[in-house]
Parts: sequence; C-alpha cells; structure tokens
Amino acid sequence: MLKLQTKELSTLFDHMLDCVYLIDPETSRILWCNRSGYIELGFEKKEILNQSVLSLQKDVQGLPQWQEVRQVILDNNGYTFVGRHRHKKKGEIAIEVITTHFSYQGHLYFLSVARNINNRLALEKDMQSRNHNIWFALNEASDGIWEWELATDHVFFSPQLKKMLGYGPDEMPPTLESWSNNVHPEDIDRVITTLKDHIQGRRSQYEAEYRLLNRNGHVVWVHDQGKVCERDDKGNPTHVAGMVQDITERKQLEEQLQRLASHDALTQLPNRRAGEEHAAYLLAMAKRKQTPLTFAVIDFDNFKEVNDIYGHQKGDEVLILITQVLRESLRGSDYLYRWGGEEFVILLPETELDNSLIVTNKWHQTLKQINWAEHNLSPVTISIGLSAYPTHGDTPFQLFQSADRAVYEAKAKGRNQTLIAKA
Ligand code: GH3
Ligand code: MG
Ligand code: MG
Repeated sequence: MLKLQTKELSTLFDHMLDCVYLIDPETSRILWCNRSGYIELGFEKKEILNQSVLSLQKDVQGLPQWQEVRQVILDNNGYTFVGRHRHKKKGEIAIEVITTHFSYQGHLYFLSVARNINNRLALEKDMQSRNHNIWFALNEASDGIWEWELATDHVFFSPQLKKMLGYGPDEMPPTLESWSNNVHPEDIDRVITTLKDHIQGRRSQYEAEYRLLNRNGHVVWVHDQGKVCERDDKGNPTHVAGMVQDITERKQLEEQLQRLASHDALTQLPNRRAGEEHAAYLLAMAKRKQTPLTFAVIDFDNFKEVNDIYGHQKGDEVLILITQVLRESLRGSDYLYRWGGEEFVILLPETELDNSLIVTNKWHQTLKQINWAEHNLSPVTISIGLSAYPTHGDTPFQLFQSADRAVYEAKAKGRNQTLIAKA
C-alpha cells in the first residue's frame, strides 16, 4: 500500500467532505481512501480498503467489465460517472464520481473523487415540479400556450389550445402549418406580418387579435401574444413562446354594440350613419368603375294622419310592414336604410335612372297590392325622388339633396309616385 508522505496531507484529505479513492487500475482495488470515503458509506476503513471499487456501486450490474471501464477512464482524463453508492445501512447515495489517472514511481493509479449529490438531485426534482406547476398555472390562466422553434417550424400546442379548437391532446400535428391553416383567411396575412415584425426586431413583442377556425369551421376570436424567448450566440431568435386568450364573447358584444350604433332598433335596418358611410364607399366604387349609382329617397305620404287616426303604435307597425315589403322587392345589389322618421334611402349601384324608375314604380304597385283592410288601415302610399351619379352630382350630399327635392315635387304633384330630380 502506498504510504502518503506526510501525516499533514492525510489530515487535509480527512477534512474533505468529498470521498477520495486511490485505485489500482489493474485490479480495481481501493488502495487508499480519505475519511469521507468510508464514513459517508457507513463502513469502517478496513471494510473498504482492498475491496473492488465496483463493490461500492449500486449500479454494478450491467456495468461493462472493469477492463472496459478502465479503458474509458484512460481514454478520458477527468471521466465523470453519475450513479449510486451503496450505504452499509441506509440504502443508497446518489453520487457523481470524477476519475483521473496518473503515474507515480512507475505505477499507474486512478484517483476518484465522489461527491454526494442527494441534495442536488432533490433540488433539481423540486425545480422540475415547480416548472411543472408554473406550466400548469399558465395553462390554466390562459386558453392556450404555444412555443415555436423557428429553425424547424416545430410548434408545441398546449392541450388547452387544442381543446379550444376542438382537437384532442394527440391531434393537431406540431407544425406552424397546423396553426396557420386554422387562421381565418382574411386575417392570416395581417397576423403573419405582425409576427415577422417582431421576429425581425421591428416590434418589441407579437400581439394580434384574429379569428381562428375550429375543427367545425366555427369562428373563435383570439387575443394572441408572444415574444422571442431564446436566441442563438449571434442574437438571432430561435424560439418564440406565447399565450392565447379566447375573446369570442367580447368580440360578439363589440359587434352587437357596433350594430346597435349603426342600426335602427324598430326596423332593424342600417341607419343614416351607416348609410352615409356606405354611400361614400359606393360612390367611390362607381367613380372608379365609371358606373352609375342611383339614390332613391322615400318619404311616406301623410304619415302624420296615420298616427293621428290609428295611433303611434299602428304607425310603427306600418313602418315595419313597409320595410318588409321594400326589403323583399330589393335586388341583391341594392341597399336600404332608414334615414330617420318615415324617410328611407335606397342605393342602387350600377343602375341608370330609367331602370331605377322601373324598379321604384314596381314598389308603388306592390304597396297597392297589400290587403290594407286586413291590417285595419286605409292604404298607405310613398313618394320617391331619384337622383344619380354622375347626372346629379358627384358627392353623396349633392345626390341626396337632388333626390330630396324630387320628393317634394312628387308630393306637390299628388304623392304616391316617383320623380327623377331635375338635372
Ligand atoms: P307628407 O306626405 O307631406 O310627407 O306628410 P307627412 O304627414 O308624412 O309629413 P312628414 O313627412 O313631415 O311627417 C312625418 C311624420 O311621421 C311625423 C311623425 O309623426 C311620423 N313619424 C316619424 N317617425 C315615426 C316613427 O318612428 N313612428 C311613428 N309611428 N311615426 C313616425
Ligand atoms: Mg317626412
Ligand atoms: Mg311624410
């Protein structure tokens, strides 16, 4: 057995918490060990010395033969092995062993330093379970989590996200395509641009509201938010992670509010505000395509009388009834608005004045054919004034004014008729 040169050196080693073993590479026997080398394992010094180092191992079975281990240690100076040491009484200890080799006085030796990593493993386990809990909380707090690996276009979708789209945990292949195929075709370009802007550094984060289509084709409105979470050595993004919230209810409410603001509650028709906006748009289209656009302004005849004779509620019923009749008489390309009171506007794109007159004359006929007695009313008629782009002007205001003047003329001429405005 090798004698250490000084007692001090031995004392020094005995103060180490790591276990140090000097091993004979030929036989695998332990030639020397420090105090921790046997105390840590619950043995007496004499029970350890001259034993094969493999006898300390819990994982000896299945290990390659010593000759192979030996070769690996010789090939890799500073060879690290993570395994378990056998404690005499208390089961096992997780250890990390680093073995180096050296020659001394013509002999080859292995020097192994084994460190107890029970605490470290416990900490790692704790971290893992904490990660798991944080992940769980994130998943619960959102309606979906995703992580995209840019190089491969591999995307992790959380089970919650898949559930939101109607898929099971094992469905939806983990690719970017699975997601992009589910984005509403009208939204995809905008969303991809926003995502690229972030990845290429033009936006500090990715944030978008858009429509996803679930597996049945139903729209799910989402708020999606993400950020680059990993970069390579050069600072280029490699991973983006994000979170999705289902905002369908909020969107439906917004749409409802918007509808309320642009629609008339009595007839459910779009109101003047919507009509003016729409008229400007249709006029721009007509100018671009060089096609006519007719404005028809309608005013009910003697409607005050209807209210006076039959009551305001009956008047309301007439408004609803005539709305229904007009709606049914419209062509698919025409638009009807309740401008206010008992005045309505109809926009007839790509229709010349002559043709518009034919259309509106049919409306007078249709009203005449209503069985008014059935409604306990005397017949209600309407007067209509027509104007058109480009004959009567090129702004919605000019066109509306011309048609409105024509209504007055129709009234003056005895009501229940359509007149084209003077050019
Ligand atoms: P004219 O033929 O000259 O148009 O006669 P008119 O009685 O229809 O006169 P005017 O267009 O000036 O009056 C419109 C009337 O329509 C006034 C108002 O009492 C009635 N009216 C407007 N809005 C409503 C409504 O929402 N419900 C009911 N019941 N009546 C309305
Ligand atoms: Mg009126
Ligand atoms: Mg009127």
